[in-house]
Amino acid sequence: MLMVWFACGATDNVAGHVVFIGLDGWAANTYEKSDMPTVKKLASEGALTLSKRSVLPSSSAINWASIFMGVPTEVHGYLQWGSKTPELEQPAGAVKKNGILPTIFQVARNENPDANLALFAEWDGIKHLVDTLSLNHFEQPTLENITQRACDYIRANRPELIAVVFDRPDHPGHDTGWGSAEYYGMMTYLDSCIARIVKAVEEAGIIDDTVFVITADHGGLDKNHGGTSMSEMLSPLVVWGKGIKHGYQIPELVMSTDITPLMAHILGLTPDTIWRGRVPYSIFLNSQK
Ligand SMILES: [Zn+2]
Repeated sequence: MLMVWFACGATDNVAGHVVFIGLDGWAANTYEKSDMPTVKKLASEGALTLSKRSVLPSSSAINWASIFMGVPTEVHGYLQWGSKTPELEQPAGAVKKNGILPTIFQVARNENPDANLALFAEWDGIKHLVDTLSLNHFEQPTLENITQRACDYIRANRPELIAVVFDRPDHPGHDTGWGSAEYYGMMTYLDSCIARIVKAVEEAGIIDDTVFVITADHGGLDKNHGGTSMSEMLSPLVVWGKGIKHGYQIPELVMSTDITPLMAHILGLTPDTIWRGRVPYSIFLNSQK
């Protein structure tokens, strides 16, 4: 007689919750000099690379699309910094739902109708690059209230996946330059915002079952970005939390396209077949790969 065991729920996950934090324009070559005690503590207790590479061009909409859709520019087809719809024809059959390529939010929703999925984004352009129809909550707060709104949401809803996307340090980068005093001042302020988000996750009682993923769309050079210099193309990636190695320098190449497959792996979701990103498996404590 055959005994069949049925797994309950999705495939094995690393953690039950992911908190994604995006810092628009965070350049890797400003990391060492920055006064970011919270982020550096998370990095020292988790995994870090200063070589997260953008897809080209090194601009916002293009890379946020890659970050949330797991595919490069040539596939998602958003070509301008502020693209709201793809300028390039997307692969036949790739759009299956809600008029947009399968984002991390859509795949999470498909696999778990009860999951709580939320996005808080300062920049008006982000909402065109995610599948807002798959979210429980979408909000476009200002810099002044995005952290409070996200923290309140975490405490009230304990979301399985929440993305908090700041539109900084891009602004001081364009105004006074990447690496200017204003840029570094903003990084210190953003670090304090991240500290508040970590505290909210603790207060929600889910810190032991959460992984933080903190990265950016691109860096910058002088007062701009979009080009092919490593100053513009490289950003930090910090991954911290349940199941993640401590004090680990990520040896794998990591690109914008890899962030969605990484978050899917943490949450135990089946990657969509169109995704082209790779998971940096070595960051996990139980990594066999
Ligand atoms: Zn940007």
